[in-house]
Amino acid sequence: MKAVIYENKGSVRLVEKPMPTILEPRDAIVKVMRASICSSDLHIRNGGVPRAKEGVVLGHEFAGEIVETGVGVRKFSVGDRVAVNVESFCGECFFCRRGFVNNCIEGGWELGCRIDGGQAEYVRVPTADMSCTRIPDAISYEQALFVGDVLATGYWAAGIGEIKPADVVLVLGAGPTGLTTMMSARLFGPAVIVAVDVNDARLSLAKEWGLCDVTVNPNREAVVEVVRALTCGRGADVVFEVAGSGNTFELSWQAARPNAIVVVVALYEEAQTLPLNRMYGKNLTFKTGGVDASKCSEIMRLIEAGRLDTNLMITHRAPLNDIMQGYDIFANQKDGCIKWVVTPFEPEQPVGIEQF
Ligand SMILES: [Zn+2]
Ligand SMILES: [Zn+2]
Repeated sequence: MKAVIYENKGSVRLVEKPMPTILEPRDAIVKVMRASICSSDLHIRNGGVPRAKEGVVLGHEFAGEIVETGVGVRKFSVGDRVAVNVESFCGECFFCRRGFVNNCIEGGWELGCRIDGGQAEYVRVPTADMSCTRIPDAISYEQALFVGDVLATGYWAAGIGEIKPADVVLVLGAGPTGLTTMMSARLFGPAVIVAVDVNDARLSLAKEWGLCDVTVNPNREAVVEVVRALTCGRGADVVFEVAGSGNTFELSWQAARPNAIVVVVALYEEAQTLPLNRMYGKNLTFKTGGVDASKCSEIMRLIEAGRLDTNLMITHRAPLNDIMQGYDIFANQKDGCIKWVVTPFEPEQPVGIEQF
């Protein structure tokens, strides 16, 4: 079968690999119907994820059909349609019992990082009962595609942000995770969501889709000033740092009001500075990233109810054969790309790339 591997720092490649097989009783083999490229794949390619293994098949955001199950799989059977969680977790250890599945002693982010992932035709999914979420009949693979990663991240971030009704929420970054953070933040009833990005097209889309109320491009306006003007000089009630670029960490605490919560979702490739001497008395609470994707069933119900909708983010879709072009277009934000979706099977468009 075809699969994309992380060769070594700076290199990913589409190669032929043997079909995966069941290795453990709780494994399932999933036929990948839809997969995506995530910015975390780019971080791996750049050598920014030290725990990623060379030679591993990339891809940790995908949905598909179960084609084989190990003897220990209880909840799923062959033919079931599932969205797969970025995290593999046992559901029983100290961390899992508290919902901290990212820190599962048996798992965490394994797929597409330390074990073969979903940018392939087939994939072995460990601890399938915990790691798969059933897709209701009314929901397509594409509607469910982001449940296990980028939407799980936005939903988790919004949850730990402890947003109160009427809050002013600041989201730094309007890429895929920024957008899902905004749509999830909306569920908690803030008064204003301010979106910040250097990409004007992304800001316009966020506004047009109703995900934010105010947009700021820091190349033209001072973010802290805009936020202060909206809050009688106080600063944002909750800040989400999703961008992970240049000075965005610094911006996150500067734009926060005293006693705010600053949720740092970004995956940095370099160390950041926390100048406590400059924020003394501001009494901030920082919560740092690494999604606990433990609420995927809840997210699926919200999609079914029409409260969350990520279809707008799919700007490109193409077969697995074209994925290297996808890496280039997605990484460089060409053609207005927000999400590149891979269609290993049953492509809706038989050949070529469709752009909306
Ligand atoms: Zn990801
Ligand atoms: Zn566990």
